[in-house]
Amino acid sequence: MDTTKRRLVVLGAGESGTGAAILAKDKGFDVFLSDSGTISPKYRAILEEEGIVFEEGSHSMDKILSADEIVKSPGIPLDAPVVKAAVSKNIHIISEIEFAGRYTDAKMVCITGSNGKTTTTMLIHHILTGAGIDAGLAGNVGHSLAYQVARAPHKVYVVELSSFQLDNMYDFKANIAVLLNITPDHLDRYEHLMQNYVNAKFRILQNMTPKDVFIFWKDDPVITAQLKKISTEASMLPFSEHEEEGSAAYIDAENELILRTPGTSMSMPRADLALSGLHNVFNSMAAGLSACALDIRKDDIRRALEDFTGVEHRLEPVAEIDGVHWVNDSKATNVNSCWYALEAMTTPTVLILGGKDKGNDYSEILPLVKEKVTAIVAMGVDNAKIVDFFSPYVERIADTHSLDDAIAACRSFARPGDTVLLSPCCASFDLFKSYEDRGRQFKDAVKKIMN
Ligand code: ADP
Repeated sequence: MDTTKRRLVVLGAGESGTGAAILAKDKGFDVFLSDSGTISPKYRAILEEEGIVFEEGSHSMDKILSADEIVKSPGIPLDAPVVKAAVSKNIHIISEIEFAGRYTDAKMVCITGSNGKTTTTMLIHHILTGAGIDAGLAGNVGHSLAYQVARAPHKVYVVELSSFQLDNMYDFKANIAVLLNITPDHLDRYEHLMQNYVNAKFRILQNMTPKDVFIFWKDDPVITAQLKKISTEASMLPFSEHEEEGSAAYIDAENELILRTPGTSMSMPRADLALSGLHNVFNSMAAGLSACALDIRKDDIRRALEDFTGVEHRLEPVAEIDGVHWVNDSKATNVNSCWYALEAMTTPTVLILGGKDKGNDYSEILPLVKEKVTAIVAMGVDNAKIVDFFSPYVERIADTHSLDDAIAACRSFARPGDTVLLSPCCASFDLFKSYEDRGRQFKDAVKKIMN
């Protein structure tokens, strides 16, 4: 046995864990993967085929604590017993992105924020590939970064980073970092302290040099407050809704989207943006600035911002039936993202809310509900909080406990010209497997109405 081999243990066998194990194998580590749950058949088959030693159903501490280093999947909390045991033995714990970053010189465009990460990541990737750049999509979307670095390398990676991924990143450096916004989310993983969550998000800035670019939303009070407390060498490209001192992107008085960076100056009508809603204007600004920072041609940026087809479950138009528009925004699993969905509505709206509540405060959307929502359909196991909160303000509220009943209630409420919007503010786990499952079942049910 080669005793000089470094031992790398991977915790969690999802996309990132399996990718990290493959990269580690290729780099000659003694690899062991451990998952306390059941490994999905897809990843089990890959691990078997690759000859990677793994276990599932429990963690064998002796095999794990003999590691030189551990790659932890983002889903495993920092207070999990196995993580605590590793920390107490001073074993270095890193994320899959940190690990993969060691083995590539590719440019890293990294996107984080509480809302809009996937949309902006896909949009940047769309601009780059449309301009002929060899760009990979990684992070929470597509194949893991580690897998691509090992087996399908690219010159540029567009990486969606959650705060959980950022938690265990130390030496990794983004060439372009995008911070979209920060609103309370996942606080259960951060000792219920907002500052801890903010600190995690700001890890995206670590190790950046003056050659690197930091793109952020200037109107966000949480971001601007934190920027006063920290220092960074990165070049700043802030974006804001209106023109302000220092804004690199904004909407001008003629409703033109302006992008101004040291290398590029361009504009395009806001109305030409493929994605609707103010939130998507911000996402488009962030994507456009990233492309400018990578010296992409203006025409390529313009065209891509115009012809992007959007991302499933994010304000996704489903159908128009008898004059009623049905929209799937199942990914809106918190109140803030529902706010933006409502902001984007241009017709009277029947709003489907509900699911697993994460400590929601619905007062944030109340003004928009009063302005645009004609009826609420609560869809969940326990709708009491929604019904109680909105009853004084919304006359028509249906209390439903299945998708079929919710759809029937929407049909009875909606008039021609209305929009039925699934933007539930909640996680999906009470009635559905995931937000994707909720969105797909919703779309299938709507399509059934047409037949
Ligand atoms: P994430 O990957 O951060 O969860 P997504 O791009 O999947 O974000 O979008 C999730 C939801 O968040 C969308 O359905 C939309 O309602 C809302 N959203 C998207 N972009 C933004 C933004 N820039 N600011 C606030 N909310 C947004």
